[in-house]
Amino acid sequence: MNSVRPSAPPLAGLTPYDPKYLPADALLSANENPQDVEQELRQEIMHEIKQVRLNRYPDPLANDLRDMIAEANGLDRDQVLVGNGGDELLFNLALAWGGPGRTFLNLPPTFSVYEANACLTNTSVVNVPRLPDFRIDEEAVLARLSQGDIDYLIITSPNNPTGELASEEFICRVLETSDALVMVDEAYFEFSRLTMRPYLAQHKNLVILRTFSKAFSLAGVRMGYLLGDAEVLREFVKVRQPYSVDAVSQAIARVVYANRAQFEPGILKIIEERARVLERLTRIPQVKPFPSDANYVLFRTENASQIWDMLYSRGVLVRDFSHAPYLENCLRVSIGTAEENDLFLHTLRDAIMGKCDVRLPSARQ
Ligand code: PMP
Repeated sequence: MNSVRPSAPPLAGLTPYDPKYLPADALLSANENPQDVEQELRQEIMHEIKQVRLNRYPDPLANDLRDMIAEANGLDRDQVLVGNGGDELLFNLALAWGGPGRTFLNLPPTFSVYEANACLTNTSVVNVPRLPDFRIDEEAVLARLSQGDIDYLIITSPNNPTGELASEEFICRVLETSDALVMVDEAYFEFSRLTMRPYLAQHKNLVILRTFSKAFSLAGVRMGYLLGDAEVLREFVKVRQPYSVDAVSQAIARVVYANRAQFEPGILKIIEERARVLERLTRIPQVKPFPSDANYVLFRTENASQIWDMLYSRGVLVRDFSHAPYLENCLRVSIGTAEENDLFLHTLRDAIMGKCDVRLPSARQ
């Protein structure tokens, strides 16, 4: 047969997620840690990997790793769940709390994967857009929640791609006034230092998402985790792929987590560089950066998509959000090494001052 019946209806309006990851001298588009895992730790990782039985299935729930994360957070093993990157856990959320007849409250502009997961699972999406400065419209969210039909919401803190924290007081009000499942996505928490973890004991409807991809330099490994109530996490276990977290990734993550203190100087450096990049951006004419508590900065500039082309033609890859809803003329730069940040700042200044030729017609074609 040289034809095939259509795929499932929810796929009709969807385009596959495209991180627009292209080769470049300065990779500043994906909020990764610019420093790879150090050599000494890599040796330890190699040693651990050598012990892994490749012919055997992995521990489905990665209990050794769960125990380490639980202990560090003052929790029990069953209050921790690991996934194949935070992305898998976000998909599991939509499977477990969404579905036909169920409703997700979204706070755009935010991480686009949330809405895509809702669409895939036939979950209705209610959008409560952020204010013009990207703060959450708190009263509108609380008013919408009071209608009682929201099954889950995700509060991203710091928010991606805009960079600001959600207020702790507001999250507490949400947790108190609604029985919806509230995921607080803390993928970038190591750069903000603020977490809702202390509230887990009081609120069964709170789950926290974290990742090894950013602060711990393991974007290539795919490891994320949830902190939450044991009964809530049991619902996630029901929908997850049993062996989604492979044995090699478990071994790598155990070594990195046991040595996480070693990442602290790198994290502090990123926080320091973030302040420098923000300050320098405010000095470039026609550039409006938004404050950030994460490892990236969103900024608005006229003709953002041409500016993106100019940056890329000079080897600097940033993320173009200029055509995304609510993010007109916005670009997002991840904080890299001091040299990469300098290259970005110089090139951006040149592009804005008209000193930059675009050598490629459009690198994105
Ligand atoms: N949440 C947010 C807000 C993110 O930006 C990302 C990564 N882009 C994730 C979750 C998922 O990260 P990962 O799958 O790499 O753990």
